[in-house]
Amino acid sequence: MSVSLHAPSGAPLSRRLAGTTSSPVRDILEVAARPEVISLAGGLPAPETFDVDGLRAAFAEVLSGPDAVRALQYSTTEGDPALRARLADVLRTGGLAAEPGEILVTTGSQQALGLVAAALLNPGDPILVEDPTYLAALQAFGLSGARCVAIPSDAEGPDPDALVRVAHASGARIAYLIPTFQNPTGRTLGAERRAALADAAAAAGLWLVEDDPYSALRLEGAPVELLAAQPAARERTIVVQTLSKVLSPGLRIGYLRAPEALYGALAVAKQAADLHTSTVAQLAAERWLARHDVVAHMRGLAAHYRPRRDALLAGLAEHLPPGSTFTRPQGGLFVWVTLPDGFDAEAVLPRAVERGVAFVPGRHFFAGEYVPGTLRVSFATASPTELLEGAARLGAAIAG
Ligand code: PMP
Repeated sequence: MSVSLHAPSGAPLSRRLAGTTSSPVRDILEVAARPEVISLAGGLPAPETFDVDGLRAAFAEVLSGPDAVRALQYSTTEGDPALRARLADVLRTGGLAAEPGEILVTTGSQQALGLVAAALLNPGDPILVEDPTYLAALQAFGLSGARCVAIPSDAEGPDPDALVRVAHASGARIAYLIPTFQNPTGRTLGAERRAALADAAAAAGLWLVEDDPYSALRLEGAPVELLAAQPAARERTIVVQTLSKVLSPGLRIGYLRAPEALYGALAVAKQAADLHTSTVAQLAAERWLARHDVVAHMRGLAAHYRPRRDALLAGLAEHLPPGSTFTRPQGGLFVWVTLPDGFDAEAVLPRAVERGVAFVPGRHFFAGEYVPGTLRVSFATASPTELLEGAARLGAAIAG
């Protein structure tokens, strides 16, 4: 159901909420849920990849052992110590030497973005973002009254010199980046660009937020270390990760690793937001991580998603109009399409839905001026056959 922000007359709507709109993706997802529609719209992880038996066993272990009452009790704001230790191990596989005490467990990584906004941004403050960027980050920062300012980029990603320039021009203290398999573009920053951005952030006195839900979904190619693992970035970067794409988004287990200077403020914001993340979900996630080889599990996810990505890319190559371009991500869930000049993805959407395919027009992901011919498609949920058919329907809808 979509949420209306039109308050009945007299309802006390806050100024900051009045300036924030419900995600248009919700409305598109509603249409995309119709059985006749092939959804390239959402980034919902494939349900076939959920380890239902493993999670059932993990919850059973937590609720039948001596810890059962602890699982049902209030717990600490920072998170379960054993889970924090396991999450620090996961971060270490990304090249970042993290300690359990530096981890804050959050209710999904979306909450981590809200905590950044609540703890570090005043109404009117600028925050630098890639353009396009993750739609719900724009929402989270917008809700705090912050102003999202686009970082100019080149073919390799955000431009380090431009980062310094816009930081000075806007007075921004924080930049939000999705360096790996970006949502919505699928683009990944190379190691050199990461190092250059870390140096640029240090030169400009910027704190960084590295949002990293997708590095766990690498389908091919060599892993790139986290931006936060760059020496110049380590003590100025809040890294945000999640179990949503690896295990289950319904668990709502996200986490961040923050430099010491910021950790306390984020923990206080978390306390005010929800006291702590669900104890039973944390303990079950910890048990699942204890009983499974996460790296092997990720290999299984890659084997699931790789043929889906390939089918979508093959379908786009065959059916998009000449002159179109699209990204070829090595992982994550998204592909970014740019149609030739003169095409408007928003105008295509109703025709696409009529033909039984849904996508998200690019407009919603831009902080600055949007490019009308852009759109995001995802290979997360549909089967390879459906993805090929979805691309054919998309091509037909674009052709009119
Ligand atoms: N950041 C990015 C870039 C995302 O794409 C998502 C999920 N779509 C999130 C954060 C939030 O995920 P969750 O709250 O489930 O961890």
